Parts: sequence; C-alpha cells; structure tokens
Amino acid sequence: MDINLSSEDLAFRDEVRSFFEENKIKSGEDYFSWRLGWFKKAREKGGWDVPKWPEKFGGPGWSPTQHYIWEQETARANIPFDLPFGLGMLAPILMNYGNEEQQERFLPDIRDRQVNWCQGYSEPGAGSDLANLKTKAVLSDDGTYYTVNGSKIWTTLAHVADWIFCLTRTDDSGIKQQGITFLLFPMKQEGIEVKPIITLGGSHTVNTVHFTDVKVPVENRIGEEGKGWTYAKGLLEHERTGLAGLSKSLVELEQLKDNARSIKRGNGNLMDESSYKSKIGELEIDLLATEFTELRSLASAAAGGEPGPESSILKLKGTEIKQRIQKLTVEASGIYSSAWGDKGVGPAFAKGGTAGYLNSRYFTIYGGASEVQKDIVAKKVLGLTKGSSK
Ligand SMILES: Cc1cc2nc3c(=O)[nH]c(=O)nc-3n(C[C@H](O)[C@H](O)[C@H](O)COP(=O)(O)OP(=O)(O)OC[C@H]3O[C@@H](n4cnc5c(N)ncnc54)[C@H](O)[C@@H]3O)c2cc1C
Repeated sequence: MDINLSSEDLAFRDEVRSFFEENKIKSGEDYFSWRLGWFKKAREKGGWDVPKWPEKFGGPGWSPTQHYIWEQETARANIPFDLPFGLGMLAPILMNYGNEEQQERFLPDIRDRQVNWCQGYSEPGAGSDLANLKTKAVLSDDGTYYTVNGSKIWTTLAHVADWIFCLTRTDDSGIKQQGITFLLFPMKQEGIEVKPIITLGGSHTVNTVHFTDVKVPVENRIGEEGKGWTYAKGLLEHERTGLAGLSKSLVELEQLKDNARSIKRGNGNLMDESSYKSKIGELEIDLLATEFTELRSLASAAAGGEPGPESSILKLKGTEIKQRIQKLTVEASGIYSSAWGDKGVGPAFAKGGTAGYLNSRYFTIYGGASEVQKDIVAKKVLGLTKGSSK
C-alpha cells in the first residue's frame, strides 16, 4: 500500500532500516546470544523491544503510522523470532487486570524473553464453545491455593513452555461464562503431563496437557475468582490481531511472483498464464483491502483503544490469504512440492511445499475458527441478528 509518509515518518523508516542493518546476525554468530543482544539493543532505542506495549510499561508510544512502518520493515528484515504468548497475549492481560505485584513479577521476564509461556484455553469439548471448559480448580479450605484437575488440548509449544496461563472452572452453578478463573502456573512440576500431537504436515508444535492435583497459589490468580471469561475475551482479540500476519504476506506474495516467473511455460513463464495471473491478482486485491482494516485497527490502538471486532476481520481474511499463498506456491512448484523430508527436489522454493500447505490448514482454525469469526463480524460489525433482513 502506498500511504503518504511525512518527512518525520520517512526519517523514522530510515532509522528502523539502519537499526536492522547494523544489528543483523553476523556469519558464524550464535543465534541465541545474537537474539538476546538484539532485544537488549532494541530496548535501548526506547522500547523498540516491546513496540506494542503502552508507554507506561516501557513501550515506545509510536503513532499508528510508525507501527505500520515497523510491521512493514520487520516483515522484510531478518529479525529474531518472538513467540506471541507472553509478549502479545498475556502481557496486555497483566497490564489491564493483574495487580501491581503480578505486573512486577511477570512482565520483566516476558520482556527479557527469559520465560516461555503457553496458552491453556482449549479442551476436548471446549474449542469454539470455549466457555464450556471443564478443567476444575478447587480453592483450599484455608483459601491459599487451588488444586487443578483436567485436560487441555492443542496447546502450542507446551513441551517447551516454562509457564502456562490457564482457564479453569471454579463454579458451575451459573451460566457457563461465569465461574471461570484465570490462573498462572509453572509447567515443570509434578502432576503435569504433556503429550505431543503430530499435525498433518508432520511437525510437533501442539500437545495435550493433563493436570492431576496441580497446586496453584492463590496469588497466581489474575483478577477475581469467577471473572476469568472477561479477561480471556480481551486476550482473544489481541491474539486474533496478531495472527493476520499481513506484512509478512505482502513480502511472501512478492516472493511468490518471483518464484512463478522462474517457472518456464512455453516461450514465457507461469506468470504469463492468465489463470495463474488472475489468482495472484485476486490475492493482491484482497491483501490490499485487508491492509486498510489493519490500519484502522492500528489507529484505534494508538488512540488508547483495545482491539475490537475488527480483529475478527483481520484474523479471517489474513489467515485465508496466508493459505492462498501456500496453495499457489504448491501450484507453482507442481510435483516437486510433494518431496517430503529435508532434501528438496526441483526449484529451491518447492522444498517443504506440501507440508507447508497441509500445515496452513490450521491457520483458519486456531485462535478461533473462521466460521466463528464470521459470526462475530455478522453480529458486531454488521449488526445482524437472527432473523434480521439487513
Ligand atoms: C495448530 C493449532 C494450534 C492451537 N494452539 C492453541 C493453543 O496454544 N492454546 C489453546 O488454548 N488452543 C489452541 N488451539 C485450539 C483452537 O483455538 C481450536 O482448535 C479452535 O478454537 C476450534 O476449536 P475446536 O478444535 O474444538 O473445533 P470445534 O469448536 O469443535 O469446531 C469444529 C468445526 O465446527 C465449526 N463450528 C463450531 N462452532 C460453530 C458455530 N457456532 N457456528 C458455525 N460453525 C461452528 C468450526 O468452525 C469448525 O469448523 C490450537 C489449534 C490448532 C489447530
């Protein structure tokens, strides 16, 4: 998208580019120490290590345009990986609903990338209908700790997580959105069993997690007992905003076009074929339209607002776009994309194509399935109700 940047914004963009250039990984450098050093330097720039955090908690206080520039530039540059669970999902909950002691205890470690978090929301029987969750937490008679029993499923990276933020049921006497309590506890302790789930593309990122009499001190509860649904809903909106990945898709789409141009067809290349070209064109148009929604979301965040239902539009469209890129990559590389394992066959971009395509199926499931996002958009964005003729 070509938005008009002021001279200050252009100067900011140059500063970001120079920072990435000056701090890129050097040949032979250890990735993990480079990664931590990179975040340290980003912090010294004035909160660049936590761009989305409010100034009060050390964020840079950027304008929406600066956030937009950052997203664009980070998608193009080779910056260190960052997991969303602590930084982008739990941190806003701690800032909004945690007490001062919890903020002081957990936020610095999240910021320093020292502790890996995982998200214990979904259960067998509680995915889209999350409020149906059954994992039980019972408060001790003296009111000092909870005992947790139950199971979570699809827990991403639970096998490498140090801590979990977890939705538990402390009361089942009212409607199902009531009686849910938000707890934080360490993963490496007795009573927690993590089992892998291997996904369609052959990789291990998700797990089942079983809790048997896990003890959680009451000071690890966020907010009030039974009010966890309110906190959890806020977190889902942050999660959805982060899952769209539009800037990355823009870069990947350009790469896809280059790749397609390298595939010979008759006297030309794949991009000369009208059927392929029109799919690319449609994708480009959808990506552009979704970017405008992202800009609106950035503007509202910069004005101090929380992500609202527009995060569902971003999740819905952004993940479909990512899937279409995977599909068109497989289409471009043809049979070569079917090669499984480390050794690629055919053009370099074909490697892992089918595995990537199969794994991309879950983009429209995690963080809330597409059908559920459509429901939210229908009700909260379009104002449709059951039986409405709008
Ligand atoms: C790769 C991956 C990683 C994940 N990581 C995590 C994680 O780290 N932590 C975590 O807590 N969860 C995680 N999840 C779980 C994810 O959030 C759920 O899978 C998702 O919410 C859907 O729930 P479900 O799988 O139970 O499907 P279901 O809710 O059973 O849905 C099955 C189908 O029915 C449709 N459906 C359900 N309800 C409705 C409705 N009201 N209207 C129309 N259609 C409907 C759905 O769209 C879907 O197509 C992950 C999932 C995946 C696939």
